[in-house]
Amino acid sequence: MRRTRTLAGLGIAAAALLALTACNSGSPSNPGGGTGGDEGGEDSTWFEVATDVDLEGSPTFDAIKERDKVVIGVKEDQPGLGYLDVTTNERTGFDVDIARWIAASLGYDEDKIEFKPIASANREQAITNGDIDYYVGTYSITDKRKEQIAFAGPYFITGQGLLVAADNDDIKSEADLNADTTVCSATGSTPIQNIRTNYPEVPTKEFDLYSACVEALLSGEVQAVTTDQAILIGYAAQDPDNLKVVGEPFTEERYGVGLAKDDAALQEFINTMFTDGGDIWQAIFDKNLGSSGIEVTQPAVD
Ligand code: GLU
Repeated sequence: MRRTRTLAGLGIAAAALLALTACNSGSPSNPGGGTGGDEGGEDSTWFEVATDVDLEGSPTFDAIKERDKVVIGVKEDQPGLGYLDVTTNERTGFDVDIARWIAASLGYDEDKIEFKPIASANREQAITNGDIDYYVGTYSITDKRKEQIAFAGPYFITGQGLLVAADNDDIKSEADLNADTTVCSATGSTPIQNIRTNYPEVPTKEFDLYSACVEALLSGEVQAVTTDQAILIGYAAQDPDNLKVVGEPFTEERYGVGLAKDDAALQEFINTMFTDGGDIWQAIFDKNLGSSGIEVTQPAVD
């Protein structure tokens, strides 16, 4: 369910949306569009870059200002969510654009962003070490993770699903997993933990990256890949002849932006963006996942 927004909030959203529309029509009012940095295609800079941002009491923002650059942890092998096309060097995806929106709201354009790929198992450490300013990459909010870091959001809700070979007629849902079906997922993820805890008879295989699990599925080494359905839909869409998503989501995964535990100011700043920026959220969703078949509305922040 989406929160009711005030007119003032909509004003901010409308301004940024205008920048987005202008960008798409090739208007020169888009200052950074695809020119800065060594990454990014034509429309990687959608957002109006804020000026004179003051975020008092945020150690993260102080560090960003000091180095004049935002360092953002992301995924880069998850089509539709966080993806790097190595041939064009272009980063795309819902999460990547959420990350860009936050950077722009902090006053930082595409050429002042450094994206760092960080696997599921290494996220808390990267945040607590200060290696990244924040993390946007299918990162479920959990109480255990909250012992080490903080989350803004949620900004997206999905659930654990299953990806199998297109010609597999045996696994139709999680109820069909058994001692003869090896299931692959990423180290340090909530879905691998869920299989271990609630399906202890099911053999598991894990890799750092989901793309390695998809390879193992294609080669017949495992019978299923499990993670959030939104991620699996992206892999199936890339290779529909060989892969399919089966069943219904069987957990609830609420995605948050990972950030330092002591940075309540940044957490509140991002939560306010999410609360007031529903139109921008929708535009980011439509651009990246609009044709994916994923049906989701923006959740209210915690
Ligand atoms: N959302 C789940 C998690 O945070 C799975 C996806 C991922 O590993 O990024 O563990």
